[in-house]
Amino acid sequence: MTPPPGFPGSGLAKGLAVTLRTMTKKSVTGRYPDTQPDLAPRTRGVIGLFEENCTVCMLCARECPDWCIYIDSHKETVPATTPGGRDRSRNVLDRFAIDFSLCMYCGICIEVCPFDALFWSPEFEYAETDIRELTHERDKLREWMWTVPAPPALDPAAEEPKELAAARKTADKLAATQAAAEPEPQPEPPTADPQPDPPTTGPTGPKREGP
Ligand code: SF4
Ligand code: SF4
Repeated sequence: MTPPPGFPGSGLAKGLAVTLRTMTKKSVTGRYPDTQPDLAPRTRGVIGLFEENCTVCMLCARECPDWCIYIDSHKETVPATTPGGRDRSRNVLDRFAIDFSLCMYCGICIEVCPFDALFWSPEFEYAETDIRELTHERDKLREWMWTVPAPPALDPAAEEPKELAAARKTADKLAATQAAAEPEPQPEPPTADPQPDPPTTGPTGPKREGP
């Protein structure tokens, strides 16, 4: 019990009480870097880029509140695959970089990416002595992909994803079209009846008509 305020030495007693209370509690201080911290699965350490999924739609760069995503691209013409078809144009990625000295780890870029090209990695040991080194170019962003944990298992009670239902519908339609295009199996030609054996007894001549 601490003495009432204003009593001589009450401040000292109060401070000692806090010290005693803290001393008896279990310490939560991590001994990093001697011991690696036990990070939560969804830790926001660094952003990895899965380049093959990126269509250069620019959504992440536009939505980033810090304007720290830099994307350069050019257009390429893809020739038509069918005779008489139209050529298509597609974006080719030239540069994709994130400046982690500006990034505030809000995760908006990952949320808005419609093609699953950006992921959180729990990796956090990328401090630099030169701030310019904190701009990670596409090769480095790709390297982070190897440290991205596998996604958690799906909840068995969850609704079926819309993509799966759409894929199943397309597969069923395709199977039905293929089945309709296949030729119907032809019936086998009838085989000739075997000739009955001639009777061995009785009249053998032509049957006579009645009177
Ligand atoms: S986490 Fe936020 S701040 Fe960082 S790059 Fe993505 S959108 Fe920008
Ligand atoms: S939002 Fe995704 S697909 Fe679009 S440019 Fe960014 S990373 Fe690429």
